[in-house]
Amino acid sequence: MSETNSVAACLAQFTLAERVRIVALRRALHAAPELSWQEYGTQRTLRAALEASGITEIRTVADTGLVATIPGRTVGGTTVAIRGDIDALPIHEETGLPFASQHPGVMHACGHDMHAAWTVAAGVLLARDPAVGAVKLVLQPAEEVGEGAARILASGALDDVQMIFGGHVDWRFRVGEVVATAGPLAASTDTFTIVFHGRGGHGARPQDAIDPIIAIPSSHSRPS
Ligand SMILES: [Zn+2]
Repeated sequence: MSETNSVAACLAQFTLAERVRIVALRRALHAAPELSWQEYGTQRTLRAALEASGITEIRTVADTGLVATIPGRTVGGTTVAIRGDIDALPIHEETGLPFASQHPGVMHACGHDMHAAWTVAAGVLLARDPAVGAVKLVLQPAEEVGEGAARILASGALDDVQMIFGGHVDWRFRVGEVVATAGPLAASTDTFTIVFHGRGGHGARPQDAIDPIIAIPSSHSRPS
């Protein structure tokens, strides 16, 4: 199937009204971006979009997140989850788009507006034509600060999930291209502390001292 055809086939699964609604949802999210753990308006918008799709089992998880469940056709089937993150970044938008950010200094610059919208879009299809097992839609807050996923998992909302699927938009690929690989695809967020110990000395005998300032800038390129 050609790339154009595959995009068309994908879009053909949606009615025109659904397509209009999903595009409008994505643009509404884009215009009202919220930082990690502040996604209350985003959560309200997404809950309304899920409800408009006929999804009734929607639970607030991790304060500003949502987990919606779409029952499967059979009881006891594999439960899978589709995850989209929903938070924005502290970046000022200068695109001039008609649906550009209305929140100065905050922008959906990482594309999480799209991730949230396509997760809802999956819900639109699944609500109409359920999978064999249940599918949980996970709208995860606070991805940018590396905290949201742990909070969702700690809530127990995904305890019965056997597989989870997620994706990220990437400008390096064309519309219609879906890219996957075995193993890690990108670096993840983590934090750690490094302490540099120097040794003081007399300025006239620097060879007897250890200057940590020299070590610090070179450490990030050779962190072994
Ligand atoms: Zn991202």
